[in-house]
Amino acid sequence: MKRPSILVLGAGYGGLTTVVNLQKEFGTDAADITLINKNEYHYESTWLHEAAAGTLLPEQVRYDIKDVIDTGKVNFVQATVEGIDVDSKKVSTDNGEFTYDYLVIGLGFEGETFGIEGLDTYALSIANVKAARYIREHIEFQFATWSTEEVKNDSRLTIVVGGAGFTGIEFLGELANRVPELCKEFDVPREKVRVICVEAAPMVLPGFDPELVDYAVGHLQAKGIEFSIGTPVVEATPEGVKIKKNDDEFEFIHAGTVVWAAGVRGNRLIEETSIESMRARVKVEKDMRAPGYSDVFIVGDCALMINEETNRPYPPTAQIAMQQGERIAKNIKALAGEGTTEEFVPDLKGTVCSLGDEDAIGVVFGKKVTGKRASFMKKMIDNRALYMIGGAGLVLKKGKFNVL
Ligand code: FAD
Repeated sequence: MKRPSILVLGAGYGGLTTVVNLQKEFGTDAADITLINKNEYHYESTWLHEAAAGTLLPEQVRYDIKDVIDTGKVNFVQATVEGIDVDSKKVSTDNGEFTYDYLVIGLGFEGETFGIEGLDTYALSIANVKAARYIREHIEFQFATWSTEEVKNDSRLTIVVGGAGFTGIEFLGELANRVPELCKEFDVPREKVRVICVEAAPMVLPGFDPELVDYAVGHLQAKGIEFSIGTPVVEATPEGVKIKKNDDEFEFIHAGTVVWAAGVRGNRLIEETSIESMRARVKVEKDMRAPGYSDVFIVGDCALMINEETNRPYPPTAQIAMQQGERIAKNIKALAGEGTTEEFVPDLKGTVCSLGDEDAIGVVFGKKVTGKRASFMKKMIDNRALYMIGGAGLVLKKGKFNVL
């Protein structure tokens, strides 16, 4: 068997799971495995809403990549990928050029603003750990400024969250808990603070069980979160957002913080390659390869897969990204040994949406769960993701251990 050269781009859930499984599939010196990532650390994207609200510190949501890979088998390079040429099999970065026999692209997601005026410039997005830290510090700055300014600008204390999907609701759950802490820390009366969720669609958490959605909305409203549903954001400015209430009625919400959590797309570097994509997501073959490129695999949020039962794309999730990473490692091993690849079949165990530290809703193994029990399950899911990549040691270091 020729010693293959395997290049993995991105150390998110998809890329890192691929690498950890490639280490198991190939013995020492059986393959040249290189992992390239922008930072020397991996961050848990599924915890970013907590870092953005300030209920977790940025340090808590990330860990060093070298702590979880076998550096005897994997060459880790900290670099930012700048271009991918799948025709000449070259990847350019700010730290040199790389070639490969097999390429795995796992460069993750970016926020999608659907061309809405001003959103790119004036709204913040929970896109990565640095962006999450920026949101936390921006909100704290608004509170600190309000408490010291002579002429009070109350709109500083209004936070608009665009989107009532999974990320928006999880962020609102954290804010519901964080706002009382901020009020205490910065001497701000709670009634001065507004947190408003603005959603274009006529419902919250589309695709979720209606009973669970009612539970979530009721619990968030009880903690002071406001909902404006069926009212698309049409413009963002430095002062806030304009929303459309009906055909000829608009409202301007003055807000010191606007966080856009209403859509994701794949990494825009994908759009600069000759691989066909939609919103930078590649409709992959059944074995996770890019159409027309037998040596290029796509993992995680950059991959688009259709659920044949519903004829709709699977949602981009860490759960699926990690399962894809396992399959891709096996498929590369098969190809390197001149065998054949196998189809990736997702094994969906359920979904739990957090509503803050001690509350959540979800469906797990077909059963509905709410409250502390659901929150406990969410933490176990988070810990499982750590275990799959870094074993028990990583769970002990970074895990969530609040019990029922
Ligand atoms: P990512 O995890 O985004 O990793 C991409 C990696 O690529 C990063 O390390 C990044 O630094 C690196 N990178 C990017 N660009 C470059 C470049 N140019 N050069 C080098 N490196 C680069 N999913 C669930 O299953 N359950 C949940 O509860 C859940 N909750 C979520 C909550 C929030 C707030 C968010 C934002 C997402 C949530 N998701 C959840 C979705 C989940 O986080 C994503 O589906 C998952 O992160 C996708 O994994 P990935 O490997 O494709 O990309």
